[in-house]
Amino acid sequence: VDQDTSVRFSPSRLDTYRSCPRKYRFRYVDKLKVDAQSMEAFLGTCVHSAFERLYEDLMHGRKPKLADVLETFEKEWADGFSDKIVIRGDRYSAKDWKDLGRQCVEAYYEAHKPFERDKTVAVERQVGFDLEVEGHHYQIQGYVDRLSLAPDGTFEVHDYKTSGSLPTQADKEKDWQLPIYEIAVRRAWPDAAKVKLIWHFVRFGKSITVEKTPEQLDEVKAEIARVISAIKADHEFVPKKSALCDWCEYRDLCPLFKHPERIAALAPEARRQDEGVKLADQYASLELRKKQLREQIKQLEREQDGLGEELAKFAEAWGLQVVAGSEGEVAVSEKEDYKFPTKTHDLEKLEELEALLKDTPLWKDVSRLDGHLLMEGYKKKKWAGALLELVESAIGRYVRRIKEKTLRFRRRKEPEEE
Ligand code: SF4
Repeated sequence: VDQDTSVRFSPSRLDTYRSCPRKYRFRYVDKLKVDAQSMEAFLGTCVHSAFERLYEDLMHGRKPKLADVLETFEKEWADGFSDKIVIRGDRYSAKDWKDLGRQCVEAYYEAHKPFERDKTVAVERQVGFDLEVEGHHYQIQGYVDRLSLAPDGTFEVHDYKTSGSLPTQADKEKDWQLPIYEIAVRRAWPDAAKVKLIWHFVRFGKSITVEKTPEQLDEVKAEIARVISAIKADHEFVPKKSALCDWCEYRDLCPLFKHPERIAALAPEARRQDEGVKLADQYASLELRKKQLREQIKQLEREQDGLGEELAKFAEAWGLQVVAGSEGEVAVSEKEDYKFPTKTHDLEKLEELEALLKDTPLWKDVSRLDGHLLMEGYKKKKWAGALLELVESAIGRYVRRIKEKTLRFRRRKEPEEE
């Protein structure tokens, strides 16, 4: 896979990478077009269009009636609805979803009329700013649903959500989409004294407002820089499984779901004939046998340990070091061994011991390089500057890159087990 060469990043694009690098690759690097759209996304688009029209009219001094706003919603729905809109589950029909959209528009309109609390400055406005990351210049851009001015001169960044769950205040304090827009707003209007970030969860008639400190906005910029660096260095775009996979439009391409999805759509006989199914079934049956044998071996070891104790007692009682059997003999010996503290068993003692030896000439004789720790520190960028360069060059010169496949069998849960 080629690296991502883009210079423009939106909050949703950065979020996509954070939630799943593979989805990011499908959407932004491979630029795969997907016809299907989830009903949730379609509903959001229709509600957004109705609000866009509403506020555009208000900006032009016209106060549209609720019926006009609903008409925009209906038109958007009629123009955009097709069999490419995917409804998950069979509990709610397209009509249910449409009714829900109408209710969202209606409830919002009733709660905010006569729309005199603020002055809309822009709707669906593109905002952005430049950011330098590791010597390269990037543009951070996005579209603000609505930007308004309160009577006291506060800029308000509004975002309309039709999601079916209401996040907590703490969730939104961590969200970076609107803070990114705030950075852009403050660059565009440097005299803005106060900026409020407001998410409207229209299904619940609830708004969540957040205000950021300059330090928090600096942290948002630092996080953007971190994500852009990670994107630029990524060649693998490893899929990241999460609850979001249920909504992912690339499931039939994703290495985690491609085969299971295809197999689930087959008739039982065709499924059994599938090459992958056959191999996975053989693998699973060997896995099961290994598990049974491991249990048998454990049981045998327990029996042998018990017998060993009896044998040792017998040898001791008779002063023997060899006990003869009919097909061989058992040697009974005793030796002294040492148990050192380890990271998992008594870390404190291990650290004390290390501290004792570290400043002595003994240390170079008894300590060893921990390659695992070196690689882990390198991957997590634990060091910076000359130290990081040294580690990089050492890895480049001495560490061989290999690709190893790991196979792990996971038994599928039956519905009643879930
Ligand atoms: S299905 Fe999940 S893991 Fe696969 S690309 Fe989509 S979000 Fe990523």
